[in-house]
Amino acid sequence: MSDPYLYPAFLGPYGENDTLLEKLLVEFLRDHVYWRRNVHPEDPPAIPTRAAQQPDFQDFEARLRRELHALSASLKRSVPFHSPRYLGHMVSDLLLPGLAAQMLALPYNPNNVSAEAAPVTIDLEIQVGLQLARMLGFPHDPAQPYCAFGHLTSGGTLANLQALRLARALKCFPVALRAAAPPGLDLPEDDRSAYRLAPDASIALLQAWQHWLDALDAPARAEWSRRLAAARIEQLGEARFFARHPELEPAPVLAPVTAHYSWSKGLKMLGLGRDQLWLLPTRGMRLDMRALAQTLAELRRRGQSPLLAVAVLGSTEFGTLDPLHELLAQRESATARGAGFAVHVDAAWGGYLATLLREENGALRPREAVAAGYARFPAAGTYAALAALAGADSVTVDPHKLGYLAYGVGAFVCRDQRGMVLLDESADYVFGHEDGGDYSARFRQLGRYIPEGSKPGAMAAAACVTHRVMPLDHAHFGRLVRQTLLTCEAFVERAQRFAAEMAGRVHVCIPYPPESNLVCLALNPAGNRDLARANRWLRTLLEPLRMDRDSTVQAHAFFTSSTTLRADLLGRDELLRVLAGLHLDADSLRADAADADRLLILRHTLMNPFLVDQENGISYIDRYFEYLATRLGVLPTPT
Ligand SMILES: *Cc1c(COP(=O)(O)O)cnc(C)c1O
Repeated sequence: MSDPYLYPAFLGPYGENDTLLEKLLVEFLRDHVYWRRNVHPEDPPAIPTRAAQQPDFQDFEARLRRELHALSASLKRSVPFHSPRYLGHMVSDLLLPGLAAQMLALPYNPNNVSAEAAPVTIDLEIQVGLQLARMLGFPHDPAQPYCAFGHLTSGGTLANLQALRLARALKCFPVALRAAAPPGLDLPEDDRSAYRLAPDASIALLQAWQHWLDALDAPARAEWSRRLAAARIEQLGEARFFARHPELEPAPVLAPVTAHYSWSKGLKMLGLGRDQLWLLPTRGMRLDMRALAQTLAELRRRGQSPLLAVAVLGSTEFGTLDPLHELLAQRESATARGAGFAVHVDAAWGGYLATLLREENGALRPREAVAAGYARFPAAGTYAALAALAGADSVTVDPHKLGYLAYGVGAFVCRDQRGMVLLDESADYVFGHEDGGDYSARFRQLGRYIPEGSKPGAMAAAACVTHRVMPLDHAHFGRLVRQTLLTCEAFVERAQRFAAEMAGRVHVCIPYPPESNLVCLALNPAGNRDLARANRWLRTLLEPLRMDRDSTVQAHAFFTSSTTLRADLLGRDELLRVLAGLHLDADSLRADAADADRLLILRHTLMNPFLVDQENGISYIDRYFEYLATRLGVLPTPT
């Protein structure tokens, strides 16, 4: 089952590719040193050649070595993400191209805040945005004005924040424009309809405004730009903006209850208020479309539309994908009724699944082609949701999750770059075309548009090189993703056999079919019918399966994570079905009792491509279940 394509892609569980990485590191460290010398070879060395013989130097070096030894020793207690025994969270080994590129770029220390501080890596970051746009199905030809734009962030949290910023800017811009009242421009007839435009309509209005400005002379252009700026919510703040427009109310953000807590953080950070985050119910951990329709209808009845609707593609806890295609259909009909809103996809986890749907030439692959070789993947809904990505307004993807890059790199991608001008921080920018309409020239001033300021160019290099060595289509990067899905299917198959083997001793079930590479397992010892007791028992099982501060790595046979199933995530009927499958009494599920209002389950993220090791005929999946069987044999009965 191993794919030889992936052999050189990682340092490897055993450090198999150490020579390759070492060669690259030494080569490019030397290369960097020669570059230093060649900047001005006539400048002599400033640190004396004999400095190393002086006592101060030697003391310094001794201290340095001692501290590094201490650090290195303590890092041995790190979680071994690279190991095929690690089945826990959304992290695995690092892709070697990214690691090498990051290490190579690090001593140059480029700062991707602007081209002045990063003449090379800022272009790589713009490239990464286009690579991701292509993967998602967004327009990615920068010669086209409607091209997508993407940039890197510290992670998914800030990418989601950026989505909020852009959605709010686009929703409130038409209202501000009405307040500025440029004569002769075709404006929405009242504030309410201005505040209900979908992002595309808002961008069209922004375009019309920019053309209108272009026709003015410079002083008039500056004056009108100032007028608009003074009317914008970003200038006034929420309170004064809504005080000026009494017929408007702050619009809610709609997201499923499975949404990541970064959404709560984002609303608080932007001063929108946590109350404006409306968490909608899910069915089977996917956004409930009937609840969404009801919420939209209710808002429409009040003359409102949401600020943003979020679909999660790859929920953090369960790996499930919201039906984005259905959300977009609801958005389309709402927009037709004059109640548009932005749609953002939080694909921090699942974004790279889209590589499987992409031909090398960029075309969308049909479901039958994608499905070849799998037992179940992709479910019809999974395929439809991933294929619908191209219709979203913006997407969050985390290269430091399923992109196998080091932490510190998330990505925000919007479908149409023309809205980004609304996030421009430069005070004197007059919505004109000072960049001559040149895409790269505009976004080389990256710091103006992003939530952060200074940021690592080395991460852009890592992402760009990785996506070039392994293009984001099914024939390259997709092969890695495919491996994780096949592993997941093997896990499911093994789990079913395990359930049969355990019959009469422990009830075992997969509580819901996995949609991607995240699979959960629910357990209850035979004879126990009480939910709280089952949870306590599972906690004992979990203890050695998670890393803690005091233990050594070797003390753990495997690493997993856990999560809980709650009625509000799964639906009460579904949860009762799972409890029945485990022979747990329905009335031991008690909403009012801590530990009895949810079911604790094992959660496995299967990212490591070497879980089934053909070279040595070892399946770490088999070994994991053998380990579980042994543990279950000696675990005390629940109390
Ligand atoms: C991980 C995750 C986030 C947050 O991303 P960070 O990189 O941890 O900031 C947001 N949304 C989803 C769905 C995630 O899985």
